Amino acid sequence: MADSVLMQILIIDDEPFLLKLMRGMLRRLGYADVVCYEQGEAALAALAAGEVTPQAILLDINMPGIDGVAFVRLLAERGFSGGIVLVSGEDEAMVRATSMLASVRGLNVAGALRKPPRPELLSPLLEQCRDLAARTRRDGPAGASPRYSPTRVAAAIAQGELRNFYQPKVLTTSGDVVGVETLVRWQHPEDGLVAPAFFVGIAEEHGLINALTHCVYGEAARQTRAWQLAGLSLKVAVNLSMENLAEVNSADIIINEALAAGADPAMLVLEVTESRLMLDLATVLDVLARLHLKRFRLSIDDFGTGHSSLVVLRDLLFDELKIDAGFVHNAWRNERLASFFRASLDLARHLKMEAVAEGVETREDWDFVRASGCHVAQGYFVARPMPAEAIPGWIADWRARLLNERLLD
Ligand code: C2E
Ligand code: MG
Ligand code: MG
Repeated sequence: MADSVLMQILIIDDEPFLLKLMRGMLRRLGYADVVCYEQGEAALAALAAGEVTPQAILLDINMPGIDGVAFVRLLAERGFSGGIVLVSGEDEAMVRATSMLASVRGLNVAGALRKPPRPELLSPLLEQCRDLAARTRRDGPAGASPRYSPTRVAAAIAQGELRNFYQPKVLTTSGDVVGVETLVRWQHPEDGLVAPAFFVGIAEEHGLINALTHCVYGEAARQTRAWQLAGLSLKVAVNLSMENLAEVNSADIIINEALAAGADPAMLVLEVTESRLMLDLATVLDVLARLHLKRFRLSIDDFGTGHSSLVVLRDLLFDELKIDAGFVHNAWRNERLASFFRASLDLARHLKMEAVAEGVETREDWDFVRASGCHVAQGYFVARPMPAEAIPGWIADWRARLLNERLLD
């Protein structure tokens, strides 16, 4: 409880009685730094003046003056990076719409509760806000990324500063390690290990993505071969941008590189996320069809996020569907997420694709995914991405964990 004192919480509700009730509830849950406002205007003024710097906001929707919907918009304009919990007496559709609106605007909604909130429901949502605050401290607020110049990113690629990390994928039935996903990191001389969010987009925007993919994929293909020689049968996934598939000769480049590395295409998985920009579908289809023909495994990444949708599934030949972390993590306690998760799983089944649950972050997530019948899991609960050298040691540890923590019971 001691560190929860560090989190500041704002409550905004036009009913003084509810403010008092919630303040008391928070105090009993161990949150001492709570500031209450009866009007959105006052809360915004305090935020603007820097008088308050909350990690979480409990927000009513129906209020005179600035209501919850408007408040969410103004918060997003301020780039608020903390968590939001909606506490409302409105009907479910209204609450869902507000929640969705906030998410679309880039805010983090931990969840929604009916008035008056019950402490046992409020508590996990506040924990989520706390996790988020911790993550924001670690990675910097979303959208406030250090902006690297395209020239610097190009140099990083050319000078070999990129490093492949690998995150395991395991079977939820037996615990067997079936493969890994390659995730690129930039070993920056001053900034340390930089996450892909800070440079992959820049590479995509400035015509550097083929060079980046060439590095990552080439190394991954060599690693696939090395693991195979060492007796480790691991399928190795690589993330491709749609831009990587934009030219008809893309398939040849990918095929030849696998051959040059001595890697079996059947052991390589190509993860694709549907792009924001609509590329020439005929070309992409041509490239993917030829890769499929050569026995590469094709995987649709981030399914459900809006960038990946049914359109590509209808036309393309995918073997695997990765259900986005946003529909996996916490689905055990959120019926809306769970419904989406199950629908995706059903879809994968009908299309004869293997479903992979991404973002399995906690024991509860793991148990939920297992119980749902999704056979492959990936996420921090299983393992964080790691350098290739760490994989054999991790596999041994994982086997022990399966028994010690009774992960298959
Ligand atoms: P992705 O392909 O969906 O990869 C999964 C991301 O989720 C990774 O983030 C991974 O570290 C993170 N993750 C894994 N388990 C958990 C979990 O339990 N909870 C949460 N919250 N996150 C988890 P990372 O490494 O920062 O990569 C982000 C994205 O960058 C990737 O998303 C992928 O789209 C892109 N990316 C990474 N490497 C490459 C690359 O070589 N080429 C291209 N084009 N894109 C890449
Ligand atoms: Mg991926
Ligand atoms: Mg993904």
